[in-house]
Amino acid sequence: MDNGARAGANADMDFDADILVAGGGLNGTATALALASARFHVVLVEPRSHTERKADNFDGRSYAFAISSMRVLQALDIWPQLKDVQPILRIKVTDGRAGEGPSPLMLTFDQGEIEEGPMGYMVEDRYLRSELLRAAKSSGVTQIDDRVIEHRADGAGALVVLGSGETRRVRLLVGCDGQNSPIAVRAGIGRMGWNYDQTALVCTIAHEEPHLGIAHQFFMPSGPLAILPLSGNRSSIVWTERAARAESVQAMNENDYLDELRPRFGSFLGQVSLAGRRVAYPLRLSIAERFIADRVALAGDAAHVVHPLAGQGLNAGLKDVAALAEVVTDANRRGEDFGRPEVLKRYEQWRRFDTMALAAATDGFNRLFSNDFALLRGLRDVGLGLTNAIPGVRRAFIREAAGLTGDLPRLSRGKEL
Ligand SMILES: Cc1cc2nc3c(=O)[nH]c(=O)nc-3n(C[C@H](O)[C@H](O)[C@H](O)COP(=O)(O)OP(=O)(O)OC[C@H]3O[C@@H](n4cnc5c(N)ncnc54)[C@H](O)[C@@H]3O)c2cc1C
Repeated sequence: MDNGARAGANADMDFDADILVAGGGLNGTATALALASARFHVVLVEPRSHTERKADNFDGRSYAFAISSMRVLQALDIWPQLKDVQPILRIKVTDGRAGEGPSPLMLTFDQGEIEEGPMGYMVEDRYLRSELLRAAKSSGVTQIDDRVIEHRADGAGALVVLGSGETRRVRLLVGCDGQNSPIAVRAGIGRMGWNYDQTALVCTIAHEEPHLGIAHQFFMPSGPLAILPLSGNRSSIVWTERAARAESVQAMNENDYLDELRPRFGSFLGQVSLAGRRVAYPLRLSIAERFIADRVALAGDAAHVVHPLAGQGLNAGLKDVAALAEVVTDANRRGEDFGRPEVLKRYEQWRRFDTMALAAATDGFNRLFSNDFALLRGLRDVGLGLTNAIPGVRRAFIREAAGLTGDLPRLSRGKEL
């Protein structure tokens, strides 16, 4: 990407850069990359070093990637380089109990039901992270290993203070600093939500039998268990347990852990073993009351954290990235000051409704399915069976989960900014 001729307002000598992105997680790095591709001068500040973040075992997660997210990466020119991407060809959703196997009423989504091909893709954190970092570097993003400790907005810009004491004056500060977003706190943005008394136990397993590209979601009384296909005979497990129980499971040795896990999904994958480290993530719902403040925009988990049962957190974050980059770029091309509240308001309006709908849907599903009340169990089994019987409803679900509905930003449609 050519960064020779920079975007408009950044030529101003009063500014060190156009935009500073705080937080070099997946959303922060993608934001910096997207904005650099539109020729903004971008600074990315992240306390954890580049080397640490590129390490193979930095984050044990793999992500169910919606088609809209795949298109963002295509538009940013990193999709073809991603290693070991596994298409999701079918999704099976079942109500279940440990040791009993799945209930006979099952909901199946098949890739043949939409024209776009696979319904989604499994992408491993380690490969996604290192490709994003590589691309950001070669796009001219200035990366600083530090943290943002303070920011002060005035009419024309924001002065951002780093841990080292250095300052950067920019037109816009983007907070991609995660679910406890210090930038949101400093900007006086409150959060709504609650802790789920649930923890996601995440690991990768190797197995004897092929997964055939099928993703399984078992709804257990303690929470959902997802078995998601990875390249080769491997699957990513996201196993939700009540918090106290999860703590003791996580403390078990490998054999005991597997003995606990196996009866939850039965024997269809043959012999299984752990392939990599185990990680535990406490779960919560947390939505920022506003996505913007004076010279500040929030994106990714800094704006919204949802239950991972539908695998949509990062997908929603990448829609924020795409919408914010589009709003800011278009404003700049029209000669507007892209950090002004009127411009940022367009971003917030674009993403707010979608986010609230996702929060309500994931929270509602978790409440309906993560329990063992006989009446609810009966109702949801009938619901799964009915939904499965109506192709139009199944197709609507698939299109929604694939991120193909609503007013999509250009990057989410695979188009350049
Ligand atoms: C178990 C589990 C499974 C999931 N599976 C899926 C899935 O299948 N599909 C999907 O779409 N999503 C999934 N998600 C959600 C997804 O993982 C998150 O939404 C995503 O990783 C959030 O990325 P982020 O960059 O917004 O935040 P983070 O990864 O939290 O990054 C925030 C960064 O900000 C930095 N930071 C903090 N403070 C400062 C500061 N003061 N200055 C500068 N930097 C700072 C931190 O060091 C960190 O690197 C899952 C989540 C969980 C818990």
